[in-house]
This record gives sequence, C-alpha cells and structure tokens, in this order.
Amino acid sequence: MSRETLIDLLYLVAATTFIVALKGLGSPKRARQGNLLAAVGMVIAIVATFFKQIDGHPLHHVGLIVLGMVIGLVVAVPAARLVQMTAMPQLVAIFNGVGGGAAALVSITEFSHIHASHPATYVTLEVLLGVLIGTVSFSGSAIAYAKLQELMTGRPVTYPGQQILNAIFGLGALGLIVAILVSGATSVLWVLLALSFVLGIAFVLPIGGADVPVLISLLNSFTGLAVAASGFTLGSNLLIVAGTLVGASGILLTRLMSKAMGRSLANVLFSAFGSATTSSSSASADQRPVRSGSPEDAGILMGFASRVAIIPGYGLAVAQAQHVLRELAEQLEAKGIEVFYAIHPVAGRMPGHMNVLLAEANVPYEQLLELDEANSELQTADVALVVGANDTVNPAASDDKSSPIYGMPIIHADLAENVIFLKRSMRPGFAGIENELLYNPKTTLVFGDAKDTLTKLVAAVKAN
Ligand code: NDP
Repeated sequence: MSRETLIDLLYLVAATTFIVALKGLGSPKRARQGNLLAAVGMVIAIVATFFKQIDGHPLHHVGLIVLGMVIGLVVAVPAARLVQMTAMPQLVAIFNGVGGGAAALVSITEFSHIHASHPATYVTLEVLLGVLIGTVSFSGSAIAYAKLQELMTGRPVTYPGQQILNAIFGLGALGLIVAILVSGATSVLWVLLALSFVLGIAFVLPIGGADVPVLISLLNSFTGLAVAASGFTLGSNLLIVAGTLVGASGILLTRLMSKAMGRSLANVLFSAFGSATTSSSSASADQRPVRSGSPEDAGILMGFASRVAIIPGYGLAVAQAQHVLRELAEQLEAKGIEVFYAIHPVAGRMPGHMNVLLAEANVPYEQLLELDEANSELQTADVALVVGANDTVNPAASDDKSSPIYGMPIIHADLAENVIFLKRSMRPGFAGIENELLYNPKTTLVFGDAKDTLTKLVAAVKAN
C-alpha cells in the first residue's frame, strides 16, 4: 500500500470517528465517549498529515507547525479545563472565531498560490468564499465573545438604517468576489478581507441578550462552511467532511435553539430582541408584595408533599448547587416522596446545560423529564421547586402577546399545587422581563444563594 493510500485510509478512519462521535453527542450518557472518540480521530488526522507529501516533497515548515501546535495547547488546555460551565458559550465563541480565522488564512494563502496558475473560476470562488465566511465568523465571534464576557454591552446595539447598511456590506462583499473573478485583480482580495471583517462585526452588533448563544451556534456553522471551502481548495476530503459536519450540525442546532425559544431564526437575527427590555415593566420597579418564606417553611411544605417537581435554571449553574440539589432529592425520596426534574431545552446558557449539570451530580437520567412530559406531570405535583430558573417558567411567554418572550414554550410551574422559588432577589432573568409567577398566590419565594438555601432545605427536610 502506498503512503498516500495509507494516509487517505487514516483520513477515512478520522472522518468516520467524527460522524460516530456526533451520534454519541446526541445523548448525555454517550456524550463523553463521543467527545473522546472525536479527539482520537483528530489526533489520527493530525499525525497522518505530518507524513503527507506535497508535490513529492515532505511537509514544509514542520518546526513552525509544531510551534503553533504547542502555543495552541498551552493556551487551550488550561482555558478548557478551568472554564466555569456558565462561561462555556464565550469559550466556544473564541474557539470558533479562531477556527474561522484559520480557515480564512488558509484561503488567503491558497489564493496567492493558485492565482498565478489561472485556475478554474469555481476554484477561485471556493477560495474567496472561504475568505468571506471565515473572516465573518472570526470578527463576529470576537464581538459575541466580548458581549458574553461583558467586555461590552450584552444588549443589541442598534442605530438608524442598520439593516440597510448591513445589506450594503453583504452585497458589497459579494460584488467584490465577482470583481475578483472577472478582473483577476489580486489587490481587491484585501478590500474583500477588510469588508468581511466589518460585515462580521456589523452582523453581530444588533444581536444581544439571550440570542447570543444562538448566534454562536450559527457562527459555528459558518466556520464549518469556511473549513469545507478550504477542504475543496486544498483537495482534502477530510476537511470537506469535517467542515460539512460542523456546518450542518451548527445550523441544525441553531434551528433547534430558536425553536425552543419559540422564535424564527430570522427573528433571532434581525429583531434586536431585548433592546427595549427592563423598562417600566422591569421587576425591580414593581412594588407589589410577594410572599416570602424561610428554608424551614419550604422544608415543611415539601415534607407534606407526595410529588415534587424540581425546575432547574441558570441560577443552579451559577450557584453550583447541583450536588446539594441531588442530596435534597434523595432526602425527599427517603421519605417516600416522588421526585422528578422538569428540564426546559433552553434553561441555563447553552443547549443541554441542565442535563450536563445534573449528570455531573449523578442525578438519575430517568428522572429528567423533557418539557411536554414535565408539563403533564406537573398537574399532579404538590410542589414545584424552581431553582434559579426564571424566563423558562415565565407565564408571560404564553399569556402576554406584547412580551418579547411570547411564544416560547415554558415549564408551567403554576400547574403544581404550590410553587417554591429559590433566587437571590427580585431581579429578572436573562430576557430582562418581569415574571408574574413571583406574584402568584401559590408562590413562596425563598431568597438567597441557591446552594445556601438548598443546604438549609436539606437540613429542614431531614428534621421533619
Ligand atoms: P434565567 O436567566 O431566566 O434566570 C436565572 C435566575 O437565576 C434569575 O432569576 C436569577 O435571579 C437566579 N440566580 C442567579 N444566580 C443565582 C444564585 N446563585 N442562586 C439563586 N438564584 C440565582 O434562567 P433560565 O434558565 O430560566 O432561562 C435561560 C435564559 O437563557 C432564557 O431566556 C433562554 O432563552 C436564554 N438562553 C438559553 C440558551 C441555552 O441554550 N440554554 C441559549 C440562548 C438563550 P437572582 O439574580 O434574583 O438570583
């Protein structure tokens, strides 16, 4: 078997591991294995590439490539290990931006290589699309990172004529691609690069708040497309497969996330959702009384229940209270009380956030009910314990047509006999809007950090 055939075979193995790994990521039980498998595939692909020959010569600049890899490892390994689960979306944003930037750089380098040989139009087109998409993904991800990391406002940044200007940027970039294809003028490539960079920023600025993670998923699919374009340019089947997988799964995830928020993708991208929030309807401005209680009161209420629904949200992740929550559930079960968890698909700040968090605390997977099933079970629950969730239980999503979250499916905590809300204050959730459920006569608010309150609740349930 020739060296090239062996390398192609290894690439095929790597591509297969990526596909099988994606399948694994579809279930929390197999997600870890899936990730590991993809990493093994990636190592196989990288090692095989070192043995590749280009025009009969071994790989050039091996020292530089290894140096680049070492720098990447030194930066990425601690970043990935130390990142808080709640900061995962911005880490994904930055990794994704770097991927898009790399794909754009490959395309720029290839452009200068192929240009002199007067390639077929479609080859140049692939390269130019790689530059455009990769650069948009790079600058767009950088702004998304800045928003999530609160280096700039997380709200939509809007100005008059924004959509028109963005359309001009987009059409301008496409026009430049046509100009390069027609005239072959290489200097226009740099104008295209600059305009793509501006387009990425301009595209992301009006998207804010809870829509940013959806945007990151979309940018992720852009990076996949840019990588696939590089694959066509370099004649690498592996890059084509890997890029297409990222592109397709990114777009599917984007659609799923918008659907779970009850919005269309166009609405997420172009409606500047959240720009007009925290106005007169802000929770902090509301002076209506609420019923609050101590963890002990909540413990007594739960002690009398026969079914308890736990509704986790972003605050559970912030408080890192997943282990003590499981302890509470075990205490309740020891008293013969049935417990289930109602999981909203966009609870937290990334897809599957609650599943990952609860799996980490070894909560039995069978106890996690998805939205529809959870809602039908809630009708027979005596207590709904809302732990750091807010938007995902906000009745405005189904009752108030003027609400920005109107149409988002929610967990109907108010179907239960009693609602216990664990949060630190009357502040709203990510969408920045008031939650009527806090004022519902069924609701008791237990103020405090979720971990502290849950620890006291465990003690209270034990004592009763
Ligand atoms: P929310 O962001 O609506 O609310 C979180 C709540 O947790 C707040 O009310 C906050 O109140 C409370 N909280 C924060 N820290 C603590 C703490 N230490 N202890 C106790 N409570 C705490 O969360 P949800 O999970 O209900 O909703 C997720 C939001 O994110 C939705 O708007 C969703 O659309 C959006 N989103 C999610 C995505 C995903 O993939 N998961 C993607 C895109 C958007 P207080 O400050 O008073 O404590």
